[in-house]
Amino acid sequence: MSFTIQNVLIPAQHGYETVDVQIEDENITAIAPELKVIGMAINGQNKLLLPGFINAHTHSSEMWQRGLIPPVPLELWIAELYDFAPLNVEQIYLSALGTAVETLLSGGTSVVDHLVLIPGQELDTIAAAVRAYQEVGIRAFIGPLIQDQSLTSGMPTGEAKQNHPAYFRSTEATLELMEEVISQFHRPDEGVNILVAPTGIQLCSDALFEGCIKMSDRHNICRHTHLLETKAQKQLATEKYGCSAVKHLQNIGYLSDRTTLAHCVWLSDSDIDILAETQSTVVHNPLSNLRLGSGISPILKYREAGVNVTFGCDGAASNDSQDLLEAIKIGSILHNITDLDYHHWITPRQAVQMASFGGAKGLNIAEQLGSLTVGKKADLVLYDLTSLSLLPRTDPIGLLILGRPTQAVHSVWVNGKQIVADGKVTTINVDNLRQELFNRSQWDTQRQSQTIPQIEAHYRAVMGLPEGVLGYS
Ligand SMILES: [Zn+2]
Repeated sequence: MSFTIQNVLIPAQHGYETVDVQIEDENITAIAPELKVIGMAINGQNKLLLPGFINAHTHSSEMWQRGLIPPVPLELWIAELYDFAPLNVEQIYLSALGTAVETLLSGGTSVVDHLVLIPGQELDTIAAAVRAYQEVGIRAFIGPLIQDQSLTSGMPTGEAKQNHPAYFRSTEATLELMEEVISQFHRPDEGVNILVAPTGIQLCSDALFEGCIKMSDRHNICRHTHLLETKAQKQLATEKYGCSAVKHLQNIGYLSDRTTLAHCVWLSDSDIDILAETQSTVVHNPLSNLRLGSGISPILKYREAGVNVTFGCDGAASNDSQDLLEAIKIGSILHNITDLDYHHWITPRQAVQMASFGGAKGLNIAEQLGSLTVGKKADLVLYDLTSLSLLPRTDPIGLLILGRPTQAVHSVWVNGKQIVADGKVTTINVDNLRQELFNRSQWDTQRQSQTIPQIEAHYRAVMGLPEGVLGYS
């Protein structure tokens, strides 16, 4: 399929320029004013064309619990999340569809799904997500969420020595499962990529990390993990390793130029140097960090140190949305309160660069994606500058990033294939999806976690909080 987008606004060195953009098959083949039309002509007048953004960290199946978990920190939040999991395979499929649609309609063309697996149905879980992403046509990076230690090991012990139950699946079995996942599902040419993605230092052994490192080298696939999301995890790392989690991951060789690290809230200056040295990428998830009270990730320091940073929505139960433009907005302006020197603040154009090129770089595909460049793949988003939320006419990128754009995405192409037209996803029936999400859920305001009351006293003690219990209301 070939097409030409005519008279479209694109960002230029200074300001904007109006050009035509030719796409042949899956690639951008020319960008210049007044090109001859090849294939279908698309009217780009009063529209802005940008490279697609990357939703660089989420957990699609959390969609079933969005808006539901009370305001508690991660260590308690996750206990409740797991109390009401697992789901079934059909739910996995539907929430992956929902995540894809919301990502596309907020400027994303790729999604990194750190996918929670249904125990005993791991391959079916992944197959369901793959099916959803291929039906919608979004570019997918699926990191099956693996661990080899039980949930209670994720909290610092403090003074007391604690015994944790063994995790239900061994390290070896988990690594074997990942080999199988890669051989069955890793198909970059078809828009589906598998990542190795141990959940984090809080629930994974060195053996699991090391197995994943070898696998990522053997198959040339990217690495992903959560890193130092909470203060409790920083404390846990000291107990577990006697050094910082970042230093430890560097020692075992997990950090690299194709490693993306979600959160990175509690890092020291020397940890930041390690990220720069290893060329690791930070995935900033500002909304979940605020929602769970995890803290403010020192993004301006990362940028000063030359660390690549991109954005993620994080799972919809800790956000509680999948609006990528919202994550980019908050993830940019949040840091103005952390540094009086406004020369360091993130500009709207820098935010666009971080969300597109920054994401592609972290996923080791910056040669193919992340900018409007001849020769790159056509993962493109066309914004309607006549949308009420982008008027009156001022600076298009300023309006898009600092404003609150609604219904601004007009068209989306992934790999040269149009999957959103006139603001609507064309590949699946979104009304059916709405109906399924509605039918398979119910208004739920009364539920209570069984696990939070069991672990809350310990959490409060190790975090130095006064005694007391959570009153659900
Ligand atoms: Zn996460």
